[in-house]
Amino acid sequence: MIKLVSVKKSYKTGAEHTEVLKDVSIDIDKGKYVSITGPSGSGKSTLLHLIGGLEPIDEGEVWVDGQPVHKMKDNALAKLRLEKIGYVFQQFQLLSTATALENVMMPLLTMFSSAQIKKDAEEALTRVGLAHRLHHLPSRLSGGEQQRVAIARALVTKPEIILADEPTGNLDSETGMAIIDLIEKVHEEDGVTVVLITHDPDLAKRAVETIHVLDGKVEQSLQKAATV
Ligand code: ADP
Ligand code: ADP
Repeated sequence: MIKLVSVKKSYKTGAEHTEVLKDVSIDIDKGKYVSITGPSGSGKSTLLHLIGGLEPIDEGEVWVDGQPVHKMKDNALAKLRLEKIGYVFQQFQLLSTATALENVMMPLLTMFSSAQIKKDAEEALTRVGLAHRLHHLPSRLSGGEQQRVAIARALVTKPEIILADEPTGNLDSETGMAIIDLIEKVHEEDGVTVVLITHDPDLAKRAVETIHVLDGKVEQSLQKAATV
């Protein structure tokens, strides 16, 4: 489902040149639940951006659902993201001037008729437990509720892959755990492939496999005591 082959990725800002990923190969089968761990600044977010086709690479190959992300143009990448990928961020990234319902309708705006969009968005919000918060602005929702809206927005396109970048990083542990439960429920019920960045070793252990990022390299290993 997701395959990186000998990927190199660096950032150039002015005279500075940061080599983030030096020689990274990973292989994530369809329907797997994989965590990404590693120290701050090691390149975890970068790795997720590459899978999502949000950043170009220097060398190597990135494949998502059999499509060559490394060769694709912006339009094709946007289509791939819309059809296959739901992205969840630490900072929720909701549009503050739009209600919960409007935020979740947004990914669908180019796809269907407005009545269908509203129905799908309501269903997604109901699924994450927010049927009673449809018309609230993000500022009137708790952190946990805002992240649920973001998850509904990720789910509304019925993605095959969920990329989650520290989705519990801004939440207290109980609220964060409820968010992880929700992501795991979607993984189990829909067979969605989940790639989850986390600092928390206990959360990382819940996945079937872990990809550890360190010094520009990765190590992909099976969890011995996976709970899911
Ligand atoms: P992590 O998610 O593990 O904390 P990141 O992937 O965010 O790591 O960042 C890895 C390194 O790349 C860091 O040194 C960071 O400062 C740098 N970096 C990330 N994004 C950019 C960017 N857009 N431009 C320049 N440097 C970046
Ligand atoms: P997260 O908390 O989700 O890992 P970060 O705080 O690492 O996000 O980064 C937020 C955004 O800033 C990302 O899009 C990342 O690519 C970018 N970024 C991170 N480090 C740098 C940097 N040194 N220079 C420019 N952009 C950066």
